[in-house]
Amino acid sequence: MDSALNAAPPAPEARMAPFRAATRLVVKVGSSLLVAADGSARRAWLETLAADVAASAARGQRVVLVSSGAIALGARRLGLKGGGRASLEDAQAAAAVGQILLAGLWAEALGGHGLTAAQMLVTLGDFEDRRRWLNASATLDRLVSLGVVPVLNENDSVATEEIRFGDNDRLAARVAQAARAEAVLLLSDVDGLYTANPDSCPDARRIDWVDDLESVTGLADARSRSGMGSGGMAAKLEAARIAHAAGIPLAIATGAADHPLARFLETGEGTLFPAPAGQRARKAWLSGRLRVAGRLLVDAGAVAALRAGGSLLAAGVTGVEGAFARGDAVDVAGPDGRVVARGLVAYDSQEVERIRGRRREDIAGILGYAPRSAVIHRDQMVMR
Ligand code: GLU
Repeated sequence: MDSALNAAPPAPEARMAPFRAATRLVVKVGSSLLVAADGSARRAWLETLAADVAASAARGQRVVLVSSGAIALGARRLGLKGGGRASLEDAQAAAAVGQILLAGLWAEALGGHGLTAAQMLVTLGDFEDRRRWLNASATLDRLVSLGVVPVLNENDSVATEEIRFGDNDRLAARVAQAARAEAVLLLSDVDGLYTANPDSCPDARRIDWVDDLESVTGLADARSRSGMGSGGMAAKLEAARIAHAAGIPLAIATGAADHPLARFLETGEGTLFPAPAGQRARKAWLSGRLRVAGRLLVDAGAVAALRAGGSLLAAGVTGVEGAFARGDAVDVAGPDGRVVARGLVAYDSQEVERIRGRRREDIAGILGYAPRSAVIHRDQMVMR
């Protein structure tokens, strides 16, 4: 099976290119890396990862961190049994205590390299609801453009079983979509996906390249060794699936040693899930998930700008049909009535009605707040 999976993996250089070249890279850090078995933080190790993040930033690669560890750190401080996971109430209390410690650790470690850390706590709903998704996406975008390193975690203290991700692996894949990241790296206490459980099967071999996700589904029994986090291999494969659907490559690699990010970028060791062949998968995902809530009529100049890869600006909008809210999907039609594009709109219909045909410098005065960069940003749009 392994040989079929690895039938023709590209040369290591080509395999690693998307990870090395990514201008935005999501790096997920598992609990067992950040927190030692006795519940204390692994500060020295964290320092080396912060140094890697700084080195990436210095060559133009912005890292967005998804960090676990709140529950484990909080459990130690509170003296809770079972690593704080004996009950949901315990986990929520531990997370509330541990998150403040976790954020402090990151702020200090990144600060030591001249980087500013930002904390974002999110729940499943923030990524399922389109408007909230766009909001989270805009915040991430702004933070990254300011040179800040966002550190995300699930808002465990308020998320109940029904509404939580439960693991940061899938969260990292969703964050990658929201942050418009070009690759995801899951740093874990395992160094990749194996053909069998390496703890019990001496013949187990790591699979370095998985371009057919279906073929590895059966290998997803829980294989996290530490028992500290909640992810396991099933969650990692699910994360790979989400990333794949969004056209984003994902890797699972070990984070055990010092400088885990630099090490991965250099050696490429781990299991790599390439983005699907044929680009635009991310936009396919965008177009596939949407129902249209309205229509924007635009002038010929706007049609030409969109065809050239530009965003839709208010100045080119001539009419608004339907009642829609910020974050809804709308069609864009040219002067002949033909739909030329579909995208997620950054304003609600009443706002577009007020700013249509107007130039950017007039819009703040009309709306009473600083305008968004476009009515539909080109990254949130597919051409028809
Ligand atoms: N959000 C959890 C924490 O910070 C970790 C979830 C996971 O283990 O993936 O402790």
